[in-house]
Amino acid sequence: MLANIRIVLVQTFHPGNIGASARAMKTMGLTDLVLVNPRCFPDPEASRLAAGAEDVIDSARVVASLADAVSDCVQVVGASARLRSLPLPHFDEPETMASELVSHAVDDPVALVFGRERSGLTNGEIRCCSHQVSIPANPDYGILNLSQAVQVLAYETFKAWRQRPENDHHQPRPAEERQPTREQMEHFHDHLSRVMQASGFLTQPHACTQTQLQALFARARPSRKELSLLRGLLRSLEPDTTDASDRS
Ligand code: SAH
Repeated sequence: MLANIRIVLVQTFHPGNIGASARAMKTMGLTDLVLVNPRCFPDPEASRLAAGAEDVIDSARVVASLADAVSDCVQVVGASARLRSLPLPHFDEPETMASELVSHAVDDPVALVFGRERSGLTNGEIRCCSHQVSIPANPDYGILNLSQAVQVLAYETFKAWRQRPENDHHQPRPAEERQPTREQMEHFHDHLSRVMQASGFLTQPHACTQTQLQALFARARPSRKELSLLRGLLRSLEPDTTDASDRS
C-alpha cells in the first residue's frame, strides 16, 4: 500500500533538498520518488543528504512535466503553504488528507506533490492536482523547508497507514467503483471542452469556466463507472456520432 504512495518534487533547485526528502520518505516507509525537471540531478549533494536513503534516490524517476508524473494516480494532493483562489477541494488538516490518501492507495497509485523552494507550484500545476493540503503553521512564518514539508506529510501518511482498519487488506474494489486516474479525468475534461465549443456554449477555450468545472467534478468525485456514463452522454451530444441509420 505504501508502495502506491508517490512523492513528486517539482523543479527542485537545491539537490540537497532532494536527498533530504528521500531520507524523510524512507524513514516513513515511502520509496516512490518522482522528480519533475530537477535543476541538478543526480548530484553528490543529493546523495550526501540522503544519508542511507540512496536507494530511494537511485530509483527516482525524472520526468518532464507534472502531468507525466501523476497521470496514473487517482488522487493527487498538492502541498501548498498559501491558499489559492483555485476552487479545488482543500484539506486543512494533513491527518484527514492522509487517511483518505491511504484508503485510495489500497487499490491505486496516489501522489503528494511539492513545489519549488522559491515559488511553490504554479496555478497550472495545481490544476493537475485533485486536492490541496496545507500544513498548519505559524501564521507569521508558515513556510517550511521543502524536505521538512515532505517529512511532515510522509509522517501523517505513515500514521494513517498504521491506523488503517484491520479489515482493509480486503478484496480489491471492482474497477468501475474506483476513482478515475488523472489521465481519465483529463480526457473527460478535454471531451467536455470539445462538446462545449462545438455546441457554441464556449466560443473559445475559456480557462476560467474550465477550471470551475474541473473543481466541480473534483468535488463530485465520480467513480470510473459514472465517468464512463458522462463520456457516453457527451458522445451522444456530438453531432457526428449518430450515423444515418440511428436517426430513423
Ligand atoms: N515560496 C514558496 C514556498 C515554497 S516551500 C511559496 O510561497 O509557495 C517549498 C514547498 O514546500 C512548497 O511548494 C510546498 O509544497 C511545501 N510547503 C512548505 N510549507 C508548507 C506548508 N505550510 N504547507 C504545505 N506545504 C508546504
